[in-house]
Amino acid sequence: MRVVVVGAGIAGLTAAWELLQTGGVDVTVLESERRAGGVIVTEQVDGFIVEGGPDGFLGGEPELPALAKELGISDHVVSQRARGTAVWTGKALKPIEEGQAAALLGIDATGAAVAAGFRSFANGMGEPVTALAQRLAGTLRFAQGVAGLVSEGPRWHVAITGGSAHDADGVVLALPAYSAGRLLEAVGVAGGRALGEVVYLPSITVSLAYRAEQIKAPMGGAGFVVDPNIVPAQDPTPLPDNVPLHIRACTYSSAKFPGRASDGHVLLRAYLGPMDGDPAQASHAELAAILGIRGQPLWSRVFSWNRGLPRYRARHAEHVAAVRHRLSRLPPLAIAGAGYDGAGVSACVRSGREAARLIARAMAR
Ligand SMILES: Cc1cc2nc3c(=O)[nH]c(=O)nc-3n(C[C@H](O)[C@H](O)[C@H](O)COP(=O)(O)OP(=O)(O)OC[C@H]3O[C@@H](n4cnc5c(N)ncnc54)[C@H](O)[C@@H]3O)c2cc1C
Repeated sequence: MRVVVVGAGIAGLTAAWELLQTGGVDVTVLESERRAGGVIVTEQVDGFIVEGGPDGFLGGEPELPALAKELGISDHVVSQRARGTAVWTGKALKPIEEGQAAALLGIDATGAAVAAGFRSFANGMGEPVTALAQRLAGTLRFAQGVAGLVSEGPRWHVAITGGSAHDADGVVLALPAYSAGRLLEAVGVAGGRALGEVVYLPSITVSLAYRAEQIKAPMGGAGFVVDPNIVPAQDPTPLPDNVPLHIRACTYSSAKFPGRASDGHVLLRAYLGPMDGDPAQASHAELAAILGIRGQPLWSRVFSWNRGLPRYRARHAEHVAAVRHRLSRLPPLAIAGAGYDGAGVSACVRSGREAARLIARAMAR
């Protein structure tokens, strides 16, 4: 039996891993980019660990630790060190509850989940991706964007951009909902197009490195969020030195997790909405005003996500359940990833595993 997993983000990699554990299945993972991980991007820069996408997972969630155990990297799971969050009121940083900070950023998490803190990996969130990619090395095919899906009797014909194709007994679409929606629509799945309407919000992360002595303000806790009421669009209150505000939050990365900066240095990560101009310059100017930073950053690294975190519409779960019900009438086909059952990394791992189990059960029938 042959299964094609489309997409090598964390959901697709986990689905492929779960299928290999099941045994007796030949798995191929097709990824349009030249690297695995999707939104998870970790870079090592001069003794710093820089995260472009997620920087951790909720400590109360069991999915990543369980996966790490299977991959033999349990001892690389690290817990959040600095705790506590502040809000930038426009004039000062004031401590707030962590649940309140998540709510200000529009993150949907219970107070209890946030209270457990975050966890990550010693070498960043890319570590489980690298471990999975190593285990799946023989199955991964890069620069293989899937352009079409056709059912042929009890099997699937998966067409790749450029002309080649793969035949499969089962398919897992571990793609953003807008990509999966297009493929499902072409297969004639009612509601497929609606899945494609899940909005993925644009965002930018900017990592900036400083020498510790450049920062004057005492940096308590793991970071701060900016009170949305002082974002320029609503109320153009300037910072003390008249710098307009673009950042929505800042993580003190080197305080939050161990090993993120070399000795005597600080790594900050700003989180911004879409903007005109240079996000690195804007982040530095605003952080300099808030944290009393002297001089320029040693370097900065910008990651722009044109389509970042999905925001579900009303009755999202109902739509997804209806689509899944329709898929159950086709040859084995499952959807997985951030677009459906939760956008956090843990939810994507869970979703990938569930899709793999569903395909294995459907093929066994
Ligand atoms: C800036 C940012 C910060 C975040 N922070 C956190 C955090 O701290 N904690 C947390 O838990 N979550 C966080 N998230 C959310 C989480 O990282 C993502 O939701 C999750 O990683 C998505 O995984 P995925 O596998 O579903 O999708 P993706 O990572 O999007 O993977 C999909 C893959 O499919 C590939 N693909 C697309 N189209 C095709 C095609 N036609 N053919 C073949 N391949 C294709 C893509 O190239 C990609 O590799 C964050 C997200 C963002 C954007």
